Amino acid sequence: MKIQNEKDLKLFWKGGTAFLFFMAIALVTFFYFVEKDVNKNVEKTLRDNLERQNHHLQTILDLQFQNLENMAESIGHRDELIAEENMCILRVLQKNSDFERVSIIDVEGNSHYDEGSVKNVAHRRYFKEGMAGNRTLSDPLESSIDGQTRVVLGVPIYTDGDKAKEVIGILAASYDMTALSRMMFEDIYGGAGFSMILTRKGEVISYDAGNKAGERALESIGNNLFGKYEEELERNPNASKVVSDFKKGKSGCAELNTGINKWYMAYAPLSYNDWMVCYSIPSESARKAYQFINRYEFVLCIALASAVMILIFGLMKEVRKRQKKLIEYANTDALTGLSNKEKTKNEIEQWLKETEKQSGIQVFMIMDIDYFKEVNDTYGHIAGDLVLQNIGNYLLGRFRDGDILGRVGGDEFVMFMKNVDTVDHMVKKVRKVSEEIPQIVIPDLNGAKVSVSIGVSYAPDCGQTYLDLYHHADEALYETKRKGRNGYTVFCK
Ligand code: GH3
Ligand code: MG
Repeated sequence: MKIQNEKDLKLFWKGGTAFLFFMAIALVTFFYFVEKDVNKNVEKTLRDNLERQNHHLQTILDLQFQNLENMAESIGHRDELIAEENMCILRVLQKNSDFERVSIIDVEGNSHYDEGSVKNVAHRRYFKEGMAGNRTLSDPLESSIDGQTRVVLGVPIYTDGDKAKEVIGILAASYDMTALSRMMFEDIYGGAGFSMILTRKGEVISYDAGNKAGERALESIGNNLFGKYEEELERNPNASKVVSDFKKGKSGCAELNTGINKWYMAYAPLSYNDWMVCYSIPSESARKAYQFINRYEFVLCIALASAVMILIFGLMKEVRKRQKKLIEYANTDALTGLSNKEKTKNEIEQWLKETEKQSGIQVFMIMDIDYFKEVNDTYGHIAGDLVLQNIGNYLLGRFRDGDILGRVGGDEFVMFMKNVDTVDHMVKKVRKVSEEIPQIVIPDLNGAKVSVSIGVSYAPDCGQTYLDLYHHADEALYETKRKGRNGYTVFCK
């Protein structure tokens, strides 16, 4: 039984450990995929939003170009390009639009403003592109008049407004830089992020900080986004992917570490000037929509931790139960089911110490089967065992539950009765046992009966310790044997 028990327990522990191991792996895998999926979803949402905003910006620019082209057509109809009527058109245009300044550029590159000022822009890219018959959007330019940085939108002016004819000038209109970025991302994340327009080399063309965090982030970026991440580019594959996407004019989204915290950056190419439209938002804000998952993860962890605790608790309970069973087994006489000598002694000693629970007298009886050797010799050992078992059963049925019953030798039994009221009661009980045992019918004995001799002592009168009571009861037993057996003797009365 012991070996079986140990095997079972080992199996339990092995099973438990394997369960915990797989549970831990399952949990880590689960969290890994949840994290990956959240990341994927956040990036997709940001990319989709950016595409939409980019499209919106392009539509606005297209409309502005369209608007300018309509005006350019009217301007082309005049015989003279820098005529008062055309200057009037400039004033109306400036008044009814978001443009800061509007001008007509002649073929010499002289830019004529409505109030009469003239400035030569022949060296500018937008002048050359416009004269070549294209819509043009300049790089950010610092105005020599008010120092503001602006971008210039230009469309060609044709003779008679007819596109098939010659380009006679350019209608140019300038925008405040930040107005460009403001056209995007009115508030898709409650103003948590900021938008930028960058060149493919990462140079900042225009931005809209949106909030304090955005301002701080932009401050730390400075003029060039990639300048900021130079160090990180070496070790962060995300950052180097951004650089390479920018170079190729590819859209994408990546999470970057700015050193203080993490930011998502979504980017997409703008069809004008190879510019990149870009939106940045702190990872924490972008992931807000997925925070509920953290709560479920927490609940899952608690549930799993509880399951593990229950498992460990269950295992420990099982171990304790089995240990108790083993001890019980080791302390029990296998033949009769009574306590063995050791347990009988320990239990009696323990009880004698618990004086506060005691009342009346504590009776110690030793009982020995008479002529048991003869029973074995005559009917065989199996019959002898049966006698021992029958007497054991009898004792179990005859004494109170709390009493201590043990087989302490071959044919020797100890019965310890707790809290007996009087000596008379004790004597009555002993007599009864002495008289009833010879009446037990044991089939293998062919009708023969066995008698027993009993010796009795009791606390406190005959002694207070196990050894005292044992010796005195033993003396009394010897006296019973000496008197002719089948009876009892009380050591002292
Ligand atoms: P007395 O009346 O003086 O007690 O004589 P007795 O023959 O009973 O002698 P004693 O008590 O000294 O002998 C006990 C005998 O019990 C010895 C042994 O043969 C027998 N015995 C001891 N243990 C077992 C057991 O487990 N099974 C069986 N069948 N017999 C046992
Ligand atoms: Mg005997």
